[in-house]
Amino acid sequence: MLNKELLEILVCPVGKSELRLEGDALICTSCGAKYRIEDDIPIMLVDEAELPEGVSSPEELNCGQQETPPPAF
Ligand SMILES: [Zn+2]
Repeated sequence: MLNKELLEILVCPVGKSELRLEGDALICTSCGAKYRIEDDIPIMLVDEAELPEGVSSPEELNCGQQETPPPAF
């Protein structure tokens, strides 16, 4: 079982959002990326994460960004 204190300090590497434990994986509460846990060690790598539906690359993850970026001129 994953250490609860460890879980509390872990954040999504994309946008530093909170994670929730689901089964044997950690899921970002913001972007939905799924990080698996192997031998009690969470694999916190975007390249290894399972991407949510509709997202085909890690660059498309919208994590921790509540505000829309200002338009570029
Ligand atoms: Zn995220």
